[in-house]
Amino acid sequence: MPIFNPAVETLDRKALLDLQNERLQIVVNQAYSNVDFYRRKFDEAGLSPDDIKTLEDLKRIPFTTRKDLMENYPYGMFAVPLRDVVRLQFPLGLYGNPIVIGYTRKDLEIWRELVARVMAGIGITEHDIIQVAFNYGLFQGAIRFNQSAELIGAAVVPASIAPAEVQLRIMKDFRSTVLASTPSFALHILEVMQEKGIDPRTLSLKIGLFGAEPWPDEVHRFIEANWGIKAYDIYGVMELVEPGVAGECMAQAGLHIFEDHFLPEIIDPASGKLLEPGKEGELVLTTLTTNAYPLLRYRTSDVTTLRPEPCSCGRTLARMDRVLTRSDQMITVRGINVFPEKVQEVLASFKGVGPGYTTSVAKKKGMNDQLKIEIEASAEIMSAGEEKREGLRDAIHLALRRAIGLRVEVELKRAESRDRRA
Ligand code: ZN
Repeated sequence: MPIFNPAVETLDRKALLDLQNERLQIVVNQAYSNVDFYRRKFDEAGLSPDDIKTLEDLKRIPFTTRKDLMENYPYGMFAVPLRDVVRLQFPLGLYGNPIVIGYTRKDLEIWRELVARVMAGIGITEHDIIQVAFNYGLFQGAIRFNQSAELIGAAVVPASIAPAEVQLRIMKDFRSTVLASTPSFALHILEVMQEKGIDPRTLSLKIGLFGAEPWPDEVHRFIEANWGIKAYDIYGVMELVEPGVAGECMAQAGLHIFEDHFLPEIIDPASGKLLEPGKEGELVLTTLTTNAYPLLRYRTSDVTTLRPEPCSCGRTLARMDRVLTRSDQMITVRGINVFPEKVQEVLASFKGVGPGYTTSVAKKKGMNDQLKIEIEASAEIMSAGEEKREGLRDAIHLALRRAIGLRVEVELKRAESRDRRA
């Protein structure tokens, strides 16, 4: 099976541990010396960077959370001067109290290799034509596919958000061999193909590289069986690199984590206690090589299981199970992350609504998944005229759209009495 960087990807575990140990000490020192936030955290915990000598000592370092990143917006978490930063990215869905992540040229080079590792690992070569059907505007990781494909020599068609019919036309005419998209968009294209009676065998597509949202095994099997392609998962964390933290290999038995750059741990999300390999919990990552935006023990909120045992593909890098659930209430709709804090913040700016609300996603297996939010409103609002309520719904709709970047269906409902404490 093809391996892009065999020296690292098949490195003996002992040598990998040594490499991680060495890199951990460097990143801890850099974070301590250059990021006030980490210096404060270490000092408060009575910890010196010299105390972190091996991976065993890692658990003494306090966690970093998304809240920390928000509180240190914009540049508080940066470990290099801005002149060394060549890319600034901000995850969508976090307008309002956002975060911004910086990358040095070196960071981008590493990132480019990581996605190339995934591509090469699933058999993509210079003979392939990769149709990238991610939303280049909303999903900033999309451009990564272009740059990493160049490294391999494959051709890229940035089809972006063209409708399914156009995607199919491109696929057929250009003889695309790889589709990179969200799994839900792939399903949508597949459905359109079935509606139009297009036989998948008339296309040249062999491989699907899917990510940026959770997809259960049923979807995976459905796509493979009905399209006749191999579907692989690529995983990323927007606060580190997305995509590119991990990717499936041809063995399709979990996603290899690029442990030479990211150190994984699994914790119990409630207690923060470290869990044994093989136990399901929240994934915590420490960046080992990141220059601009080092993160120590970053809580990803993604729930998975680590599998350190060797893989039949020959890679020694540990694998993680596909992420299907989160330890927070974040939901993903059409590849866009919607955070509960964000929704609450928007609701707080309106009188007489919230804080109670429920969300639901009408799954349409495609681009048109619709987020619906039912918001509790005061008795006064509920007994006001329909015209007034409609005005309020429209205003909330607009504010939510601005805040999370998605069109949201807004409903108002009578607040449960227990939630209406003064
Ligand atoms: Zn493997």
